[in-house]
Amino acid sequence: MQDLINDIADTMANAERRGKVADYIPELSYVDPKQFGISLATVDGKVYSAGCATTPFSIQSISKVFTLTIALGQMGDSLWSKVGREPSGDPFNSIVQLEHESGKPRNPFINAGAIAVVDAIMMGHEPKETLGEILNFVRYVADDDRICFDHAVAASEMAHRDRNASLAHFMKAFGRLDHDVDKVLGTYFHQCAIAMSCEQLAHAGLFLASDGINKPSGIRVVAPQRARRINSLMMMCGHYDASGEFAFRVGLPGKSGVGGGILAISPSHGSIAVWSPGLDSYGNSLLGTQALEMFVQRTGWSVFGHY
Ligand code: GLN
Repeated sequence: MQDLINDIADTMANAERRGKVADYIPELSYVDPKQFGISLATVDGKVYSAGCATTPFSIQSISKVFTLTIALGQMGDSLWSKVGREPSGDPFNSIVQLEHESGKPRNPFINAGAIAVVDAIMMGHEPKETLGEILNFVRYVADDDRICFDHAVAASEMAHRDRNASLAHFMKAFGRLDHDVDKVLGTYFHQCAIAMSCEQLAHAGLFLASDGINKPSGIRVVAPQRARRINSLMMMCGHYDASGEFAFRVGLPGKSGVGGGILAISPSHGSIAVWSPGLDSYGNSLLGTQALEMFVQRTGWSVFGHY
């Protein structure tokens, strides 16, 4: 397995087409596009890494998996009155469906949906407490207290928030948000600005690969049914309007972020985190997707068969 992981890292290190680093959040545009990292954490407790696997990067929308898990823990199925669970077929920051669907976002992984989810988590808490709760959860599942917010990234996104602010105000106008828009956005931008390495992220995703149990510690994070459902949502919605393409090429539940990371789950096998900052036109990591495609072709770990 280590040979395969090294092989993937070597191939990606030499790739010429690397995609385009996100620049609509200026702080992200300073990241060197030549980097590539990969880490696999298996359900039997092994870790295989290569490349820049210990370099922290901005997890961005991958954080939406963790906030969804927290929200379901707090309010269970009543969360589904606030956010749907259908793929949107539109870009991550699209506003069009919100008007047709009375401000209810299609799913928890598009920006509008994640904003609705964090608004739900904020209920009964000060924004600072909510942030503390999100960070504690991530540290807990990653078993690593060094994980932190990158405040420069959060500030950069707040300063350039027009698009997300439009989504939030639009939902608020439909009575879909309970809290002040800027407070919700401030919390959302901080969750996106959590910095983690591939190794930390792969560890954090392990509970989804093992029926809800965080394998190294043996502690149950969620019930098996909830793990299965979160994986289904990642498969159907985790790559926005390229979710079908990702399922076609990789065939694993996955969640991408505009920082260039992807967390992919191979149920009963392991959790794989890849990172390369250059994005494709859908805002998903170009080489990260290629690396995962290579990984399933060589391991047969896709959920759709061994080829
Ligand atoms: N923080 C980013 C945004 O709201 C997250 C988008 C993403 O990673 N796809 O635009």
